[in-house]
Amino acid sequence: NMTSSRTQLMMARRERLLGPNNPTFYEEPVHFVRGEGVWLYDANGRRYLDAYNNVPHVGHCHPHVVEAISRQASTLNTHTRYLHDTILDYAERLTATFHRSLSTALFTCTGSEANDVALRMARTATGNRGIIVTDFTYHGNTTAVMELATLLPREDGFSTYLRTIPAPDSYHLEPGEATKEDMAARVLQHLDAAISSLQDAGHGVAGILLCPIFANEGFPDLPPGFLQSIAARIRAAGGVVIADEVQSGFGRTGAGMWGHEYSGFVPDIATMGKPMGNGHPIGGVVTTAEIMHAFRTKNLYFNTFGGNPVSCAAGLAVLDVIEREGLVENARKVGEYSKAKFRILAHKFGFIGDIRGAGLFFGAEFIRPGERLVADAKLAKRATNLMRENGVVMGLIGRKENLFKIRPPMPFSRANADHLFEVMEHVLSRL
Ligand code: PMP
Repeated sequence: NMTSSRTQLMMARRERLLGPNNPTFYEEPVHFVRGEGVWLYDANGRRYLDAYNNVPHVGHCHPHVVEAISRQASTLNTHTRYLHDTILDYAERLTATFHRSLSTALFTCTGSEANDVALRMARTATGNRGIIVTDFTYHGNTTAVMELATLLPREDGFSTYLRTIPAPDSYHLEPGEATKEDMAARVLQHLDAAISSLQDAGHGVAGILLCPIFANEGFPDLPPGFLQSIAARIRAAGGVVIADEVQSGFGRTGAGMWGHEYSGFVPDIATMGKPMGNGHPIGGVVTTAEIMHAFRTKNLYFNTFGGNPVSCAAGLAVLDVIEREGLVENARKVGEYSKAKFRILAHKFGFIGDIRGAGLFFGAEFIRPGERLVADAKLAKRATNLMRENGVVMGLIGRKENLFKIRPPMPFSRANADHLFEVMEHVLSRL
């Protein structure tokens, strides 16, 4: 068949030109050539519902963002050492979406760079070196940030100034635990031990870096006050709290603009990327005036592209669309509608153990029927491949890769959700 011979040629060319092990999705990789709103089109003109991509946050090729990028690109684009209004306008608009204590911004090109800078900020602001992260996480690809990641193989072994604590998991409780509150108490005990260990080693605590909804870790249901307790302990030890909003930000959870609002705490530093420019590469760090002052006066930081006029025009346009189209409210409403629908559907299938998530970020845990704690990654993978065959794009996540990950562009409507679950019912009943 035409498609697979073309796919095979492209795969061979990728391997020859880009080297082996370049990640692609699906048993049969997809070749998209066009996108519009929540729809993607492949090289054969086939249409797919996008229930996965968070980078085209306000919809693929949103005309307002495209227009803003092309208008600015045809007027001026430079590095960031000249004066320009867009960076100021954007910093003003962006920081206005945060708690009033978080009033200054620094721009980068990726989420990895943003986290890399945030680590340096935490260290300069506190004078300490120790960093705490959860034990199943991904925060980016720079050398310093990659060292924090346990989700992927470490290149470098543990750095001496790092401590990991268990990522919260509301579904897989440990023996003796009855509730997610018990689970949370265990994580806090590990946090206390990590803090003491860093202090005993003489590193002190510079901070903790975490995703406020633990998205890559499987978006657990968190007990109220959990993140406030983490923040209180870190601050008492002289550290700062860095919220990685790369996945959870820009209204994704439907509870305000930021994942930390959903989780009920205010960080000292927030980092962001992916959805920020709707696909144009822009990332950033928002923090307090004090931390920014400490960082800017004790370091020299310069980023050639980060915060250039075109990137800031893209960022501003994304904020416009989120506001004008009520996308945070849409995420809340369609997210609630979807989870309710998903729960009804899941009752029919013994291999779905849990439905959870927030706003337009939700999923399902695949298990062996009757065995709550036995993950079925094979079945989840087959289901995801079948969804793609049936024209719906979504993903997998979680420690055992047995979790459906549904995280569509934010204009995802109830009608789109109906379509998603219609296809899913068909797919799940074929498994
Ligand atoms: N933080 C989180 C939580 C992420 O999921 C990712 C990317 N998957 C990053 C940071 C890194 O972002 P980037 O790829 O833009 O460097």
